Amino acid sequence: MDHAEFRVKAKEMVDYIADYLENIRDHRVYPGVQPGYLHKRLPTHAPQLPEKWDDIFKDVEDHIMPGIVHWQSPHMHAYFPALTSYPSIMGEMLSSALNVLCFTWASSPAGTELETIAMNWLGKLLGLPDCFLNEKNDSPGGGVIQTTASEATLVSLLAARTRALVELASLNPDLQSSELLGHLICYCSDQAHSSVEKAGLIGLVRMRYIESDEHQCMRGPALEEAIVNDKAKGLVPFWVCATLGTTGSVAFDNLREIGEVCEKHSAWLHVDAAYAGSAFICPEYRHWLDGVEMADSFAFNPSKWLMVNFDCTAMWVKDSTALHRTFNVNPIYLRHENSGKAIDYMHWQIPLSRRFRALKLWFVLRNYGVVGLQKHIREGVRLAQKFEALILADQRFEIPQARNLGMVAFRLKGDNTLTEMLLKRLNARGYIHAVPACFKGVYVIRFTVTSQRTTNQDILDDWNEIKTVASEILVDMFGSENGNIATVKKPRISLKETRELNATFGTSLLLANSPMSPKIVNGTHVAICDYEQVLSACAQTFAQLKMEPKDSPEMRRRIRGIRMCGKKFSLDSCMDMVQGLMVEQSLPLCSEEEREDASNGSSSGGHSSISTSPATSSHAIKQDASGDFNQLPIPGTPSRQPRSRSFDMTLAGLKLDDAIISVNVKKNEITITPTATKNIEKDLIHFNVLEETLSIGEEYELNNENEVNNSEERDVVKDIDEKLTIKGPGNYIRKLIQQFSEGPFENEESKQEPDRAIVPQTIRGKADAICKKCFHYKGKFAK
Ligand code: PLP
Repeated sequence: MDHAEFRVKAKEMVDYIADYLENIRDHRVYPGVQPGYLHKRLPTHAPQLPEKWDDIFKDVEDHIMPGIVHWQSPHMHAYFPALTSYPSIMGEMLSSALNVLCFTWASSPAGTELETIAMNWLGKLLGLPDCFLNEKNDSPGGGVIQTTASEATLVSLLAARTRALVELASLNPDLQSSELLGHLICYCSDQAHSSVEKAGLIGLVRMRYIESDEHQCMRGPALEEAIVNDKAKGLVPFWVCATLGTTGSVAFDNLREIGEVCEKHSAWLHVDAAYAGSAFICPEYRHWLDGVEMADSFAFNPSKWLMVNFDCTAMWVKDSTALHRTFNVNPIYLRHENSGKAIDYMHWQIPLSRRFRALKLWFVLRNYGVVGLQKHIREGVRLAQKFEALILADQRFEIPQARNLGMVAFRLKGDNTLTEMLLKRLNARGYIHAVPACFKGVYVIRFTVTSQRTTNQDILDDWNEIKTVASEILVDMFGSENGNIATVKKPRISLKETRELNATFGTSLLLANSPMSPKIVNGTHVAICDYEQVLSACAQTFAQLKMEPKDSPEMRRRIRGIRMCGKKFSLDSCMDMVQGLMVEQSLPLCSEEEREDASNGSSSGGHSSISTSPATSSHAIKQDASGDFNQLPIPGTPSRQPRSRSFDMTLAGLKLDDAIISVNVKKNEITITPTATKNIEKDLIHFNVLEETLSIGEEYELNNENEVNNSEERDVVKDIDEKLTIKGPGNYIRKLIQQFSEGPFENEESKQEPDRAIVPQTIRGKADAICKKCFHYKGKFAK
């Protein structure tokens, strides 16, 4: 093939790839071929003479494609995702064309330096501590791209082994390394991936499996006990592998507890987050990273969920010295003038040669941006939640382990054989593909959302397929679609009885489809929906289900009316409020409100959307709107976050020199006290509500309850001493804090959008502006 032919054929190939990915649903995800199928179709010897490209390519369609498992299909649910993306494919194309081997800086300076830069970007994106980054050449830590998570685990184990052997040898100068090796022992959970076991086999060290708890999680005390017992036997614990996101059930080992044990016993802690690591780009999932500062190495696969083509495992180490000691060879042909002045990645891995993998990672990070990548992760989780909800609504199925992130492990109730049959038939039919897992004898089907192209409809189609096959099996086995599962019928409770049991019970008149037979229906929904927290949770769920929020000035007025009337709501009104909250939580303010704000003389500061978490900042939402994403931004606040738990926010760039803000999470109150003369030293103040009450700036006594009681329900009270106490439901208070903490005032956005007339505001002005936007605000904050 010459240049001219390459230009033509490569362009055809690009079209072929785009057609393939665009029409991926046309392919049956799992092929119907048997072992040896290809041997029967292809010649046994390579051709003697050159063949025409078209002939070669025809065989791809005829013989190769029929034996492909379509990993990019939305109906692929096996293993974990192995996603690709167009920027990543382009990275692969260019890297293949350049075909540089980046083993030393000199072998390809750009290859080496781009890897360091991209790994620093990615490390920051995950919120890894600085010690894992390599921003100055003398930093001991840094990131490296390994081929696979298995290799990262092995590299880490070998480095830790070297470190332990060096230490042991200094204490036991008479003993050979081989003798010392026999004393070493390392640990992982009984849920760890098989690659950890393999690393132990290759490293010739003993491995002890710690029994995980009922949540499949390795805990500190169990590890501590095992280590103490082993030490008593003369063994030397040197390496522990914690898993964040196990393969079977996406369970998370307790990193903080394990880190503390490792520190106590001087064992190297490696974190294998092969799949789940991608989720840490979203702040709401980073709680699983708590304790990561105690780890010595950390690895995850952007090649799984972050849309970077295989192979790409991101690995960071705190101190690369142990890697150097383990893998350092220094033949003359690999030395260069700048040795020691830049990273030579050959000392950080097992093979010498390495591909220019940083290119595709860099392309993906740039082309999606943080916002695009976060959106992708959240969408995967949302779709898994949707599938989970479908499973839970069918009494024949169960989910024995709680779902985490984008994977649901489900089964048919009853004997394992039912689920085994179900999986076997599903895979044989080939419309969806999944693999099993087994937790302590319980057989489950793992259903992972693997594709960035999966839609709600795909999930519904999959569920229909599963339901159909399950029904067939249950009919075959038990003669009924319900199998031997007794469907639970809710007991009938009379209206009288219900009224006696529940003082606040109300009834509604529902006109049934037949107009002449009105029905009295249970009005329990009124009691259930009476709490705004519940509505907020509903709103989040609805937003995640991509329901179209209705947003218009009329709608807003109606919702305001409903919320201010203080009565119980009808289901219709509740639904309108849900819609309203969706709008409030996920969309920019409508223009009328912006005009209202402007006419009231308060600048919104360009911060025209109210988001529920730092993860969906106004900036993020704006980008969504201008990008090619047509879905609603998904609220970042984890819906299950208990109200009294901590939320951690930063008052970036906000000078608190003229107010004290006091937040009482328990009472759902926020109090703002102007202190014109007071100076608070730090510009950056962290809200860290570890206790129930939080004061920012200085200790501040909250108003006496009596002072605020005569105000209207849940509303704002203007204190005579210029204290502004805003009371309201938790989500509302949280939103206010959010508004304060995200402060769009004087930030970069204002520079980009001069027409929005953003003026720096005092905190008082800001409070006023924010309160104006809130439904409950009735008072004015004035001197
Ligand atoms: N660790 C965990 C937790 C995994 O789930 C997997 C694979 O899914 C691996 C390691 C192995 O990954 P790799 O194929 O990159 O070696």
